[in-house]
Amino acid sequence: MRKLLFLAAAVAVAQSTDISGERIRAHVKFLSSDLLEGRGVGARGGDLATEYIAAQFALVGAKSAGDAGTYFQNLTLVGVNPQATSTLNAGDTSFRWLDDFVGVTYQQKTDASFDADAVFVGHGIVAPEYQWDDYAGVNVKGKVVVLFTNEPPSNDPKFFTGRALTYYGRWTYKYEEAARHGAVAAIIIHTTPTASYGWDVVRGSWGREDSQVKLAPGEQQLALAAWVTKDAGEKLAASLGHSVDELLKMADTRGFKAVTLPMRISGTAPAAVREIRTRNVVAKIEGSDSRLKDEAVIFSAHWDHLGIGDPVKGDPIYNGAADNATGCAMIVEIARAWAGLAEKPRRSAIFLAVAAEEAGLRGSEYYGQHPVVAAGKTAAAVNLDMFMPWGRARDVTVTGAERTTLYPLVEEASRRFGFTIAPDPRPEAGTYYRSDHFSFARVGIPSFSIDQGMDLMGKPAGTGKKLFDEFEDQRYHQPSDEYRDDWDFTGMEHYARFAMLIGVNTANVSKMPTWKAGDEFLAARIQSGVR
Ligand SMILES: [Zn+2]
Repeated sequence: MRKLLFLAAAVAVAQSTDISGERIRAHVKFLSSDLLEGRGVGARGGDLATEYIAAQFALVGAKSAGDAGTYFQNLTLVGVNPQATSTLNAGDTSFRWLDDFVGVTYQQKTDASFDADAVFVGHGIVAPEYQWDDYAGVNVKGKVVVLFTNEPPSNDPKFFTGRALTYYGRWTYKYEEAARHGAVAAIIIHTTPTASYGWDVVRGSWGREDSQVKLAPGEQQLALAAWVTKDAGEKLAASLGHSVDELLKMADTRGFKAVTLPMRISGTAPAAVREIRTRNVVAKIEGSDSRLKDEAVIFSAHWDHLGIGDPVKGDPIYNGAADNATGCAMIVEIARAWAGLAEKPRRSAIFLAVAAEEAGLRGSEYYGQHPVVAAGKTAAAVNLDMFMPWGRARDVTVTGAERTTLYPLVEEASRRFGFTIAPDPRPEAGTYYRSDHFSFARVGIPSFSIDQGMDLMGKPAGTGKKLFDEFEDQRYHQPSDEYRDDWDFTGMEHYARFAMLIGVNTANVSKMPTWKAGDEFLAARIQSGVR
């Protein structure tokens, strides 16, 4: 079997040399031009971008795999903009909007409110694989839960993966778990160490419109998902005769038991609500094996950027050339090379350009809930987001791949391409949970992003890091993330070939890839029918 695998690899390398940096350039140049107005979600530029990508898939011979025979998977997002008149009261204390608390309703209505008993649930985690259940022995249905973000600290890789943050530690998980338990509201007490950023960051990113995937009929959600400052949290903690730090220590300790607060918490969450129609672009190239062609490998990249916004130096168009015209161009080029393979890999390939990444991974979340090939039959998802026009690099980042049984295959591809695998620079910050591959991981699909390396060929050591810091500072999420004719696409060409090789080998491997035992995504995989 191993021999056969390498034979397939050799074929793929020969064919993937067909991937061309200059064709990637042409796609990037068009997708990031001012004509596309920054590819806003629900805007004309976004519609043009998706139409272009669909046309490219059609041209290379990838078949439509969207709704009703089209290349589009339509989705409706709900923009929920919380109003400054929002209120939050604990006992007879009233908290102030932005200064003491921020929050948004997940009920997608204009006048959500609640008034209920409150329970402190520690970190709000239910993780059977670590024998941890903060909701054990307590019924929070219709109640307000008060909790911390992050997870019990550990250096033991077998306990919440040690220093690296698991999904249980992310604030998004906290609200999801609270809603699963029927809570009416969830309030996270902010501390800088548990959040890994200060209150200013929370305040800045929460006082604005939130894009949510439209609720299914009858779906129960939180009337308010909120954060309070540590100072506001002290008021809640004091009602239990403790300080916030003491509550956190309790939450960190094995055997923690939820505690009912001796007061009711109430609030109103007025919001401006609007529907935003957008779409993912999805194409498919069928596999060659009569049985395995029902299974698939996904290549994904988000097509959206920030659209037209506040002008910077007179320029209002947020072109998003690196972020993420590059990834879109690369998956179009991979689709072209895949369609040109004389013998197709055994499993099918799905090429997926997703919407609304910038609004919180919403297009990929929608795909995860409405997959074209069931999650349990999807062997892998490889995501491409934000590549740099700096030529070839000696390294690559594939964070998350090591948590799946695909890793030996990824290592083999890296050796073949001369890449060293660079480690995640900040595992405790949980960057793994902030890119589209994560939407696929959470439904159990072995997923990771291939990310730009920093060790640039032919340039002095440290150049990549310097260029990246410069990009982050001067261009990232600004109108100046623009295409230039002096961009070097040889690096992207190389990374696209690398991605294709991983895809081909995954599509050919006999045993269905999965997460490794002890990983939080294995449970989702078991639920979706394949281990
Ligand atoms: Zn991006």
